[in-house]
Amino acid sequence: MADFPAYFAVIGHPVGHSLSPVMHLAAFRSLGINACYTGYDVEPERLREVASAMRTLHFRGFNVTIPHKSAIMDLLDECTPEAVRIGAVNTVYVKDNRWIGDNTDGLGYLSSLTHELDFDVRGKRVMIFGAGGAARGIADALLFAGIDALWIVNRHLDKATYLAEQLAMHHISQISVLEAGTWPEVQIDLLINTTPVGMQGHLAEELPIATDYLNERMVVSDIVYRPMVTPLLTAAAKVGARTHGGLGMLVEQGALAFYRWFGVMPPVSVMREAALEAMQRERT
Ligand code: NAP
Repeated sequence: MADFPAYFAVIGHPVGHSLSPVMHLAAFRSLGINACYTGYDVEPERLREVASAMRTLHFRGFNVTIPHKSAIMDLLDECTPEAVRIGAVNTVYVKDNRWIGDNTDGLGYLSSLTHELDFDVRGKRVMIFGAGGAARGIADALLFAGIDALWIVNRHLDKATYLAEQLAMHHISQISVLEAGTWPEVQIDLLINTTPVGMQGHLAEELPIATDYLNERMVVSDIVYRPMVTPLLTAAAKVGARTHGGLGMLVEQGALAFYRWFGVMPPVSVMREAALEAMQRERT
């Protein structure tokens, strides 16, 4: 009998920018796994039909990206407590023939912070810019890991307030909301940008924060990874703060998805190298 490969994919709309295929294919190659991984551009109205086809074709797992991270939840058999708390799924795996939805974004962020900076978030004061999907996953993981206090800043205050209320249902740490342009009176240990401000394209020159707030006692983190060094990270480095870019989160959330599928951690450095090479090719 032919030895057919196992099927994996990322579904999103658009999906052409996704680095997941190159990262996972590099990991498969490196471990000699007979599997293929591709990207499917799926319009929202086709999500149900595509998910059903993937079940019929016995996909072993897949990743989910914008705009399907919430909508996919209704099409699964079960979701992990993390995915339910966050209200979004980025990884689907199969267990006992059931499709399970998980979210590895927050843990991926934490892993990259630990691996790249050896930074322990326990007892720390954290300020986060943005109140969207990425902020939700990261905030949930940080609170679970035992941060002392969290301040959420967002352009639209109502979204920050809503996120704070949702998080407070599951966590006991101090969670506060701040208007854009204001900051806490205490020293912050970790400042994270989860908005697209600084991203390649029209927001590239902007900063999510006045630079006079930055200081050398902070870790400054930006989850934007195109470009790898954002204006925020450049400004933070100038005042002597330790900096942390978004590529690590991207790679680690992918590595954790791989773990859900195979029960072993992939070679993270191989995945990172593949992502870097793909970004390099984009630039030339
Ligand atoms: P999202 O759900 O759309 O949330 C975007 C957030 O950014 C919202 O809070 C929004 O504020 C804010 N925002 C958008 N444009 C802004 C602007 N011009 N000025 C100030 N605030 C602005 O998006 P997301 O999924 O959280 O993703 C956010 C960013 O993170 C994207 O750049 C994405 O590429 C990046 N990301 C990186 C990784 C990684 O692995 N490194 C993973 C996920 C996401 P309002 O509520 O006021 O609109």
